[in-house]
Amino acid sequence: MQHVFGPVSSKRLGQSLGVDLLPMKSCTWNCVYCQLGKTREYVTERREFYSPEEILREIRQALQAGSHIDWITFVGSGETLLYKGIGRLIGEVKKITAIPVAVITNGSLLYLPEVRRELLQADAVLPSLNAGSEELYLRIDRPAPGFSFRPHLDGLIAFRREYKGKLWVEVMLLKGMNDSDDALLALSEAMQQVDPDMVHLVLPTRPAPEQQVSLPDTERIERAVSILSAVAPVVHPVKGGMDLGGVVDLLEAVTAIVSRHPVQERELRAALLARFSGDRELAERTLQDLFSSGLFDSVEQAGEVYWIPS
Ligand code: SF4
Repeated sequence: MQHVFGPVSSKRLGQSLGVDLLPMKSCTWNCVYCQLGKTREYVTERREFYSPEEILREIRQALQAGSHIDWITFVGSGETLLYKGIGRLIGEVKKITAIPVAVITNGSLLYLPEVRRELLQADAVLPSLNAGSEELYLRIDRPAPGFSFRPHLDGLIAFRREYKGKLWVEVMLLKGMNDSDDALLALSEAMQQVDPDMVHLVLPTRPAPEQQVSLPDTERIERAVSILSAVAPVVHPVKGGMDLGGVVDLLEAVTAIVSRHPVQERELRAALLARFSGDRELAERTLQDLFSSGLFDSVEQAGEVYWIPS
């Protein structure tokens, strides 16, 4: 298949069937962290790069294979929304399956009303917001001439007002670029204007074209989680087993963890099971007692239940 790949296991979207709508690498940006390599030539004009029938035929074929799929995800070898007619594709996919549709985008074209309209039927949209200032936006995202920070942010804000689905904004955290307190506070202010349902904090764990790209220190990651959590629940970029073994006051400990970042219910259940030496009944009862305290809410994302502060 030329356009459809997977399903691949994704932390954010479970089993995700990817649909690539673009020739490699067609993008409005040239991010310092891009795993696809440098953007040799910017593409800014929207086009129907491939026939929609060809793409839909591949999606149908992949669905017939019968694998478990949590999401059908439009994610390109570049900027997904450059595909003119993505709205029609989403509509057609919805006619053939009840599997939810996600769109991963850099969000740079959301300032255009016709682009925003094309996304209204998607179940989740995951745009990028890596900076809270023009200076950092130019340094990290390195957009094509004519693109600037304010229209990018305004596009996200306008989209949020019009869109009823899940808006999960992605932030790539980069050492020495957007991980300082100043940068994070500016980002948080911008994020507040967007008002997403969740923030997905991600790290540059794959090879990047630029040598200056590196992983932030743990302390900076925690700081980013803490600052951005004031705006929306933040999906922590580092999965780690939770240890509740020696904890005296479980409610206090779980409250402290959940106040810093959303916690997978599955992870919490596993930690309680370990604490109670595999006693499932006790672990489950304790989980329910903790939840009944009223200190937590639960949200679902990609089939995963997260606890957040109530
Ligand atoms: S928006 Fe995505 S594809 Fe485009 S340069 Fe940035 S990371 Fe690469």
